[in-house]
Amino acid sequence: MAQLVLEGVSKNFGRTPVLEGLSLEVAKGEFLSFLGPSGCGKTTALRLIAGLLEPDTGSIAIGGRCVCQAGRGYSLPPEERQVGMVFQSYALWPHMRIRENVAYPLKLKGYPRKEIEERVQKMLALVDLQGLEDRYPHQLSGGQQQRVALARALIAEPLVLLLDEPLSNLDAKLREKMRLEIKDIQERVGATVIYVTHDQVEALTMSDRIAILCQGRLQQLDTPVAIYERPANTFVADFVGSSNLLPARVVNTDGRLLLLNGHPDAFLQLPLPAGISSGQEVKVALRPEALLLKPWRGNGGLQGRVLRSFYRGREVECFVAVGNQTLRVLMPGKTAWVPGQEVEVEVKEGLVLVA
Ligand code: ATP
Repeated sequence: MAQLVLEGVSKNFGRTPVLEGLSLEVAKGEFLSFLGPSGCGKTTALRLIAGLLEPDTGSIAIGGRCVCQAGRGYSLPPEERQVGMVFQSYALWPHMRIRENVAYPLKLKGYPRKEIEERVQKMLALVDLQGLEDRYPHQLSGGQQQRVALARALIAEPLVLLLDEPLSNLDAKLREKMRLEIKDIQERVGATVIYVTHDQVEALTMSDRIAILCQGRLQQLDTPVAIYERPANTFVADFVGSSNLLPARVVNTDGRLLLLNGHPDAFLQLPLPAGISSGQEVKVALRPEALLLKPWRGNGGLQGRVLRSFYRGREVECFVAVGNQTLRVLMPGKTAWVPGQEVEVEVKEGLVLVA
């Protein structure tokens, strides 16, 4: 049975639709991310699940129980929904010691003192914070505060754990470490997690499935591999994987395509999805790492001119003018590509999408 079910959930702020007809099911123990650009409605979706906002249409069920149904005026308050929430800012109580912060949800529910103490100790061990229970939040590092927030959200054994960009205040190195830690803790307790992020790496590495949102609409709901390798549309191809998107016309159904970007003679050969016919206009999505630059030798191929190049350690990022478009290319190695240099752009792989 699904642990969380959203059916046709919509939300407007004033006349602006922020979420439109969102339907999805999340299985028990699943880690599902909401991924999308700023303002696409991710946090709104989380707040609706938590009961901090009411939907205009649709219904939400948690653990098999309907927690709200728009139109019928039925809505359980947040504290009765059995959800845990971790915010971007952690929202720890600064005047409480770590043990008191973590114990707080159980105290509210009136658990006996002895049981609270035992469960707090167990939780602090789970998030590896033993020995720090008498400190105050300001005496902890960002990563440690994050783990306190996680422990506090998990201690009441919520049916669904909601995490709203929990790593965005941490530096790059710590984010990487915390990604592993959160995933490890989630798997150990078997928590059902809804994770909000605009960071594609976070979503791809942590999730069982990803829900891609754009302007309040669900674009694709699938596994990380399927999202990356079989994006449903140009938005997903661009947002996840930063594709170069080029207009093209299908020359024949064997996969010969003509780019329509002002390049005089740019043909590509790519596998076509089913149902595409000759003459049809499509978009070609080329990942920056699926392109290769070679010095131009005048033997045909896709000719381009280097505009800029940036050394990035393990790779060089190049911007190359091809026809009337600029392509972003990630080249492994340290070769310096000089602005103005004529190059051949080899397409190692690409996706054909019907725009
Ligand atoms: P971010 O990644 O920047 O946090 P988000 O995808 O989580 O973005 P939301 O916070 O869900 O986006 O906001 C979606 C849209 O709704 C935004 O345009 C935002 O300005 C608007 N919005 C959010 N809360 C309110 C509110 N209480 N009143 C009016 N508009 C709101």
